[in-house]
Amino acid sequence: MSGFFGCISKNDCVYDLFYGTDYNSHLGASKGGLAVINKEGFTRSIHNLESDYFRSKFEPELPGFKGNSGIGIISDLEASPIISHSHLGRFAIAMVGRINNLEQLEKRAFRKKLHFAELSKKGVNPTELISVLICEGRTFEEGIRNVFELVQGSCSMMILTSEGIYAARDKYGRTPIVMGKKEGAHALASETISFPNLDYSIEYYLGPGEILRVTAEGYERLKQPEKKMQICAFLWVYYGYPASSYEGINVDMCRYRCGSTLAQGDNVEVDYVSGIPDSGSGHALGYANTRNIPIVRPFVKYTPTWPRSFMPQNQDVRDFVARMKLITNRELIRDKRILFCEDSIVRGTQLKDNTQKLYEEGAREVHLRVACPTLLFPCKFLNFSISRTRMDLAGRAAINEIEGRDDLNLDEYMDENSEKHFLMVEKIRIRLRLTTLRYQKMGDLVKAIGLPKEKLCTHCWDNSSYS
Ligand code: SF4
Repeated sequence: MSGFFGCISKNDCVYDLFYGTDYNSHLGASKGGLAVINKEGFTRSIHNLESDYFRSKFEPELPGFKGNSGIGIISDLEASPIISHSHLGRFAIAMVGRINNLEQLEKRAFRKKLHFAELSKKGVNPTELISVLICEGRTFEEGIRNVFELVQGSCSMMILTSEGIYAARDKYGRTPIVMGKKEGAHALASETISFPNLDYSIEYYLGPGEILRVTAEGYERLKQPEKKMQICAFLWVYYGYPASSYEGINVDMCRYRCGSTLAQGDNVEVDYVSGIPDSGSGHALGYANTRNIPIVRPFVKYTPTWPRSFMPQNQDVRDFVARMKLITNRELIRDKRILFCEDSIVRGTQLKDNTQKLYEEGAREVHLRVACPTLLFPCKFLNFSISRTRMDLAGRAAINEIEGRDDLNLDEYMDENSEKHFLMVEKIRIRLRLTTLRYQKMGDLVKAIGLPKEKLCTHCWDNSSYS
């Protein structure tokens, strides 16, 4: 994933830009970048964040940044913001999303005798590709429409110009953009948590495919939102920040409802409920309060010496860091029957490790309740950790064990009342050494989020999505 922030003000905006961008740090693990514009032009800086904080990298450079408008990004993609010089004037651009037809668009650009300047070992920088497509338009608006037409995958963007910030949300709204307002300034962000400490209040959630030009005084809508929406449901389940809201729906409230739904009709007898930190905590609160069972913390995260949380791209390193960060509290584990809530099971490697630790510390029973259905399809719209191959997914591994292959029609496995579904869950339970395991049903997840199913991307559970 990636997250971004932009602001434009009657006064210098660098302080807002710096902290506003920082509040998106949980969304990206690779690169951070800031760009501001003033009368003399652009100032930009980009840093690798794989082993450091955004704040410690950028803070020493802040005295060199001056300007009334700027954009910043924390990204899993190549370096950005990109600065372009074109017939549209100079502009800086940052994007959140994933381009699935990058190669095809690269060839198309070469046929038109265009070129790319920002190369990395992975090839064309996706943000530069977007900027090249924008420059095919006579205006920014036309260029952004060109991007929406040509890009397969997802693409939300912010463009910093001398006439304001253009903000465009992905055509199906897979990733969010929200606008905030305060006296003499506007801000745009992936996460609403960027706003309260900087005194912005939420003004407006951009709709899918909507394009705005934002200035310090106000905003102009250049393209109306589309009716079809497919916002990523995983934002609420897992990677969104607990205090944030998307489409006006708060993340932690949704997680509470997820846990509460899991608790209804569940009668397993346990001594404690707990959440696997951090993203399982909200779900666990909902579960524990609904069943009136004490909630405790048998696992506590050790954060002072482990700076990054969304983590290195390499899965083995991620597993290792996750393992080292989690400390058990034996006092709360020995001789206890504990029920854990977790946002999702991706590979299950870490969970297996956690269960093992609990038994070693003397747990009598370990139960697991998962806030979403079984993951069966890798994400093809966002660039983040569940975008791996399908065999990385615990559900697919279980199907492979049952069938000897996993490339078959999965309808029966997706049917929550079928024998095959039950068998798949049972295989996962056995592999993770759990006493009992239950997943959330799709209908209950949709209800907990509170949007109609057709407005949510639920592809990674049921293979349904527009593309
Ligand atoms: S495929 Fe999954 S993770 Fe990707 S956008 Fe859709 S719901 Fe989100």
